[in-house]
Amino acid sequence: LTSTPTFSAGNSGHDAKALSDDVVRARANELIARMTPEEKAGQITQYFDFLNEPEEAKRVESEMAAARAGSLLFVHDAKELRRLQQIAVETTRLKIPLLFGYDVIHGLRTIMPVPIAMAASWDPKVAEQGQAVAAREARAVGIHWTFAPNVDIARDPRWGRMIEGAGEDPYLGSVMAAAQVRGFQGAGIGTPGTVVAGPKHFAGYGASIGGRDYDEVNLSDSELWNVYLPPFKAAVEAGAGNIMSAYMGLNGVPATGNRWLLTNVLRETWGFKGFIVTDAGSAHDLKTHEFAASLEDAAVRALGAGVDMEMAPPFGVSAFKTLPQSMAEGRVSVEAVDNAVRRVLEVKIRMGLFEQPYVDLEEAQRVLNDPGHRVVARVAAERAAVLLSNEGSALPLDAKMLKSIAVIGPLADSARDTVGPWVFDQDDSETVTVLSGIKAKVGSGVRVDYSPGVTMPARLHKSIFDSSPHKEIPRVQVDDDAEIRRSVEIARAADVAVVVVGESQLMIGEQASRSSLDLPGRQQELLDAVIATGKPVVVLLMSARPLDLKGSKPAALMNIWYPGTQGGAAVANLLFGEVSPGGKLPFTWPRNIGQIPMPYAHLKTHQPKTAGERYWNEPSTPLYSFGHGLSYSTFSFSNLKIDQVRVIVGEPISVSVDVSNTGSRQADEVAQLYIHQRHGTAARPVRELKGFERVTLAPGQTRTVHFKLTAQDLSYWAASTRSFVQDATVFDVYVGGSSTASLAGNFEVTAQR
Ligand code: BGC
Repeated sequence: LTSTPTFSAGNSGHDAKALSDDVVRARANELIARMTPEEKAGQITQYFDFLNEPEEAKRVESEMAAARAGSLLFVHDAKELRRLQQIAVETTRLKIPLLFGYDVIHGLRTIMPVPIAMAASWDPKVAEQGQAVAAREARAVGIHWTFAPNVDIARDPRWGRMIEGAGEDPYLGSVMAAAQVRGFQGAGIGTPGTVVAGPKHFAGYGASIGGRDYDEVNLSDSELWNVYLPPFKAAVEAGAGNIMSAYMGLNGVPATGNRWLLTNVLRETWGFKGFIVTDAGSAHDLKTHEFAASLEDAAVRALGAGVDMEMAPPFGVSAFKTLPQSMAEGRVSVEAVDNAVRRVLEVKIRMGLFEQPYVDLEEAQRVLNDPGHRVVARVAAERAAVLLSNEGSALPLDAKMLKSIAVIGPLADSARDTVGPWVFDQDDSETVTVLSGIKAKVGSGVRVDYSPGVTMPARLHKSIFDSSPHKEIPRVQVDDDAEIRRSVEIARAADVAVVVVGESQLMIGEQASRSSLDLPGRQQELLDAVIATGKPVVVLLMSARPLDLKGSKPAALMNIWYPGTQGGAAVANLLFGEVSPGGKLPFTWPRNIGQIPMPYAHLKTHQPKTAGERYWNEPSTPLYSFGHGLSYSTFSFSNLKIDQVRVIVGEPISVSVDVSNTGSRQADEVAQLYIHQRHGTAARPVRELKGFERVTLAPGQTRTVHFKLTAQDLSYWAASTRSFVQDATVFDVYVGGSSTASLAGNFEVTAQR
C-alpha cells in the first residue's frame, strides 16, 4: 500500500498519556464511591437516541440529565453529539461524560468497501488503513466507540451478515480481526483520532441454523474452539477494548446470559480486560428466549454471566434499571455492579473524556473532508475486487481500441447500493458509481450508453433499516420488458457490454438472510439477453455472497463487492488495466444453494469405489474455491522449501516458496499456505490455511515468500481430551494461489529427537 497515505494520530481527541492501570482504577473507584445505586445502573446502560421520535428522545434525555445513562448509540452528527454531551457534563452531579457508540462498520463519511471485501484483499494493511480512516472520521465528530469489527465466521451465505465479517476461514478471520482492531484503536485506547473497537458477536452468531438471522446456533465444542472462537481470541490479543455478546442462544444458552462464554472463556481463559456490552436489546431477550423469568432476572443473569453494559433497551425500558432493587434484595452483589461500572468508567478515563469531552467542530469538518481518505477507499476497493473468470480474455479493456461501451444493470448507477449496508445519511453525490467511474475514465472519445436494464425488486419483508430514521431508498422503476430490449440494443451497438448486477443495499446485512442465491428480480433474464447478443460481456457482481448465475458464461466475471465511496473509480481502474485485480475469495462459491455449507476445510470420510460424489446430481467440487481469484497476469510457484524434515512438538518450522510472474503485466498474487495433518488425536481437515502474503510482481520477476508455522498453527482443540493438543504426526504442506494449490511437501513432528 505504498501509494496510500497513512493516517495515525489526528489531533481530534485527547492527547493520550498512557495512564497506569492503578491510576485509572483509583480514579474510577473514587467516582464509584460517590455514586448512588441508580447512577451505577444508569452508567452501565446505553440508550438509543430516537432522533425522529420526540417522546422517546425526551425520555432518554431526562435519564441523561438525571445521571442515569452512561452511553448513547446511533448519533453521528457532531453538533448533536456536543449538545448531548453538554447535558451529561454540565448538568449532572458527578459530571461523568457519555460514551458515544456507533456502527462505524466500514467508514463514516468516506465509505470503504464492505468488511468482507477488505478481507478479500488478503491484505491486512487494507483493513487496518480502512478502519483507521473510519476511526479518524468517527472520533473527529465525537464518536468514541465502534461496534466493529464483526469477526463472526460465516459458512452459510444465506446469512446476510456474512458481508460484515471475513468469510469462512478462522485463520484469515483472525488476521483480519487483529488488523481491524489495530486500525480502529491505533496504539491503544486513548490514542488521538481513534475509537474503541468492539469485536462482535460473541460467539457463534454466524452459524445460525438455516442461515436465518438471530436463529439458534448449535455448535460442537470442536467447531467453536477451532473455527468460531479464534478470530475473537485474535481480536482480544490485539487489545480490543470491548466485546459485544450475541443475540442468539448457543447450544441452548443465550450468549448474553452465557457465563461460560463471557466469563470462563473470555475473561478467565483469554484474560480479556475490557468491557462487555450486550447486543441491542439482548438483555431483554433473555426473557424472550424463555431463559429468564422476568426483566429483573434477565438483568441479574446478564450481569452474572459477565455483561457490563446493556445496549439499547427496547422503548427505553432498561432491564438494568432493576439492578438497584436486586442489589437491595441481595439477588446481585454490589461488587458485581461496581465491577461493571468500573470497566465502563475506566474506558472513559483512558479516552480522556473527563479532560476533553468535546470535539472541535471545525476540525471535524476538516477531517471529514480529507481527500487522503478517499485515496484509501479507492485503493481498498481496487485491492478487494476478485476476478472470478476471464475466459474470453475480455479484461482488461483497451481504452485505445474502444469506440463505445454499453453499461447495463440496476446497480450500475446506484450510489446507495454502491456503498453497501451500514451506511446512513450519505450524500449520494459523493459516491462514484460504476457508470460515473467509467465515464470519467474514458472521457469524451468513447460513447457510453446506459440502461438500468430492470427494476431492482423490493424485499418481501421490511427490515429494521426500513424504519425511521434510515429509510430504504425509493427504487428506480422501469418498464422491464422495454428496458431489457433497450439493453440488448445498446449492447449490440457497442464494442463491449459491462453489466452490473447483484443485490441491493438492504438485500444483504442484518435481517437480510435469503433462502435463495439467485439474482433478485429479472436480472438473470437481463443478463442472458445481453450475453445472447454475442458481444463480449463483462459482468460485475455487486454482491457479498456467492450468487448463482445459473451457468451464465460471460466473457469475464468480477466480484466488486459493495466497493464504497470511490467504488466506481476503482472499478474503472480495474476494467482498463491500470491496476490488476488481485483479491481472492474469502469463502467457497458453491454451484448451487443445495451444497451449502461446503467449507474447503472439511474432513475426509468414507470413500466408496462407486458413487464417491456426495450428491448424485452434482459434482462435489465448488464453482470457485476458497482463495480463488485471477489477475491480468499468470503466476507459477516453485522451489518449495521446508527447513527441516523433522521437528519436535512445540518447535516452529519455516517454509519458503518462489512466486514468479510468468505473464506480461505487473500484477499481484497471494501466496497461500495450507497444512494437512495426516493422523492424530482427532481427524483434521483436508486443508487449513495457515499463512498468506500478497505480493506485487513485475513481468518475469520472482520473489521468495517466507512462512513460519508455529506450534500454535499445528495445534487444535480435540474433543477426546477437551484441550488443545499438538500431535506427533506428519503434516502435508501445500502452497499456491488458492486452496486447490498443488505444490506440496511434508514434514514430521516427533515427540522427541
Ligand atoms: C446488531 C449489532 C449492532 C447493533 C447496534 C444490532 O441489531 O446486531 O451488530 O451493533 O444493532 O446498531
